[in-house]
Amino acid sequence: LRGIDLLRSPEYNKGTAFSDAERDALGIRGLLPPYVCTQDQQMDRVLASFRRKTDDLEKFINLAALHDRNETLFFRLLVDHPDEMTPIVYTPTVGLACQKFGHIFQRPRGLYVTAKDKGNIKKVLQNWPEKKVSIIVVTDGERILGLGDLGASGMGIPVGKLALYTACAGVHPSECLPVVLDVGTNNEAFLNDPLYIGLHQKRLTGDDYYGLIEEFVTAAMEVFPGLMIQFEDFANHSAFKVLQKYIDRLPTFNDDIQGTAAVSLAGLFTALRVTGQKMSEQMIVFQGAGSAATGIAKLAVLAMMQDGLSEADARKRCWLVDSKGLVVKGRADVAGEKVPFAHEHAEVKTLAEAVRVLKPTAIIGVAAQPGAFSEEVVRTMAANNKRPIIFALSNPTSKCECTAEQAYKWTDGRALFASGSPFDPVTLNGKTYVPRQGNNSYIFPGVGMGVIASHSSRITEEMFMQSAKSLAELVTQADLDQGSLYPPLKTVRDVSSHIAAAIAKVAWDRGLTKDPRPADILAFIKSKMYDPRYPDYTKG
Ligand code: NAP
Ligand code: MN
Repeated sequence: LRGIDLLRSPEYNKGTAFSDAERDALGIRGLLPPYVCTQDQQMDRVLASFRRKTDDLEKFINLAALHDRNETLFFRLLVDHPDEMTPIVYTPTVGLACQKFGHIFQRPRGLYVTAKDKGNIKKVLQNWPEKKVSIIVVTDGERILGLGDLGASGMGIPVGKLALYTACAGVHPSECLPVVLDVGTNNEAFLNDPLYIGLHQKRLTGDDYYGLIEEFVTAAMEVFPGLMIQFEDFANHSAFKVLQKYIDRLPTFNDDIQGTAAVSLAGLFTALRVTGQKMSEQMIVFQGAGSAATGIAKLAVLAMMQDGLSEADARKRCWLVDSKGLVVKGRADVAGEKVPFAHEHAEVKTLAEAVRVLKPTAIIGVAAQPGAFSEEVVRTMAANNKRPIIFALSNPTSKCECTAEQAYKWTDGRALFASGSPFDPVTLNGKTYVPRQGNNSYIFPGVGMGVIASHSSRITEEMFMQSAKSLAELVTQADLDQGSLYPPLKTVRDVSSHIAAAIAKVAWDRGLTKDPRPADILAFIKSKMYDPRYPDYTKG
């Protein structure tokens, strides 16, 4: 690339940072203002421009525009300022951006595969300009965060997730492909909105739906050999089916089920360092019985079994509350993934009552029911536990079960708290608590990096267990002292490299890759991480 095309390529553009020598060699002299900036000076400029926006959606648009014009600078901003940028490109603001997607749309990003492409999906995939794609994040938009069916407007999620693959774990941006599988939407407001960007039709169902997914996965594996696919924000009724269908065919995982499970388990491991208890002594009540809840429960059972419990006994320590109340054996309509956690018990209608009668040590909120951790619920937890574990994981912030402040206030600062979206520190009786995010963003970037660096042919449950353990190990005593159950976001690149190493280690230990095993897996991972700094185009 040279000339104006170079300046218009977000992948190669350096903007005002092109040196005089580059400007002469590449035919861009005069096309840029004369003063040559360093990348640091450019960072000052884009950061100031970002901070001038007082509205989060405007900040999102500001970052998207930077992403479209100078990818290296965009990722440098994310890498250097994760605390400030992650809540914009990811939860909570990405949720708002998806809701308004058609109204803030400027430039396409990612690939739209639609119901109209049936029979031609391979051709659509071949239109993608990059030939080497290692990771696809795909959504059908049916359950975007806790916001419901947002159809093709869900594109913000795969775009945001892949931005984190790059920013947090150093996966090269050119190897990342965000995909929306537009099978229609049942969101009436969108169907009636002329600015909605997706197919204006009802969702495909049954064989039409699963047939399209099958064609997509098959075509993607042909066009991009060795590829890994992450399924994201599918509705509960399809998430497990799709995962089960493909888990033995390619490296694939569902982040809402498995990534969430790993990050939550890491939080539990950390909390147990504070309480001094064992996993096998926990009694966990989930508010929600969907992808996230059953995914976490399953991994928690495995962890309890590692403490010596039988599977049956471990399951009895995990209880689910769904939209109809406590999931108990014999209750009508208990099916699918809920069944292993439906125990003998009288029917219980509310979470508050469930917490009273079951006396859990931990409650985990993943039902997108804001305020579900009421004062009554939290105070009961505080009465029954010296250090109650309270994870309010629903996203975005508007769906959170309780705020950090409420959790600390209602437990006199004793809560071991984590939330899906970020909360500011809370000061109570002179002590400052720093809650951190129990968010799968600690996990999935490292999973992706570990899988593609090792060329693992599969993604296994053991990998998620190991990533939970390595995440928990990275929490320091200083973190614990201020109430933080996760490491600071600013260390996320280091965290991700450890998780990637844990994943890759399992790949080698279990013979899931034919690549030669590096002597130092962590160093090997670190050497593969993309660093968003400009190359000198006059050299090589
Ligand atoms: P899902 O599969 O659709 O499950 C939602 C569950 O909530 C269902 O079991 C549903 O009950 C239950 N529910 C609905 N209304 C309820 C009520 N009034 N009381 C009790 N339960 C109720 O969704 P998901 O994938 O599990 O995600 C749920 C939430 O978790 C979302 O907000 C998502 O953003 C969040 N999440 C957070 C993270 C993170 O990293 N922090 C990761 C993944 C998901 P029925 O089964 O009866 O319908
Ligand atoms: Mn998700």
